[in-house]
Amino acid sequence: MALDIILLGPPGAGKGTQATRLESDHGMVQLSTGDMLRAAVKAGTPIGVQAQAVMDAGELVSDDIVSGLLGEKLDARGPDVPVIFDGYPRTATQAQVLDTLLSDRGRTLDHVIELEVDEDALVDRITGRFTCGSCGEGYHDRYKLPAVDGVCDKCGSKEFKRRPDDNAETVRTRMAEYRAKTAPILPIYDARGIVSRVDGMADMNAVSQAIEAILHPA
Ligand code: AMP
Repeated sequence: MALDIILLGPPGAGKGTQATRLESDHGMVQLSTGDMLRAAVKAGTPIGVQAQAVMDAGELVSDDIVSGLLGEKLDARGPDVPVIFDGYPRTATQAQVLDTLLSDRGRTLDHVIELEVDEDALVDRITGRFTCGSCGEGYHDRYKLPAVDGVCDKCGSKEFKRRPDDNAETVRTRMAEYRAKTAPILPIYDARGIVSRVDGMADMNAVSQAIEAILHPA
């Protein structure tokens, strides 16, 4: 059976980075509700139009909308593809929906990996980040600039983008939402004995190694 995991942690904890690595190293598939919503906003779909203001404010989009999007994407994947849930669930209701989505498809949740981080450091991390507009490679104003100014190291593109919700004020709201609505769902998974905690402030490679040890213990 496919290995299904949740990466949990506040915005900027490194969930996306680690998910991308798991995709390329282990053939897993990242299902990010944030990415799905950004695609809907970009495409100007009714869901995108409805979600945009909520996302710009750093608040949570309704459970029904995100759960609908997630269900569609999950069905687009074969039953044998291992999935990383990134940014979902974010509320107790979503956690219940995920249980049903998985059990209806004969899937089980194997691990919930919580990336533990320091909030003040996260604001610094998030407000400097940007990505290549073509291949999605991640950069940072202070910690990781392209080797040649204005040119992506990976694909050579000269176009970069920043998320509109990566400003200090919205980031604080996103963190408050995480504390109030998402962190409280951890006990549900703790009770099942499937939560592992990883130091998300460590070097990216060290975080990847720690996740690897959880997924594939020696
Ligand atoms: P993310 O890329 O995961 O940081 O998500 C960006 C924004 O999309 C969040 O601040 C929310 O407004 C919205 N969003 C993403 N996933 C969810 C979710 N599971 N539930 C509600 N809102 C979400």
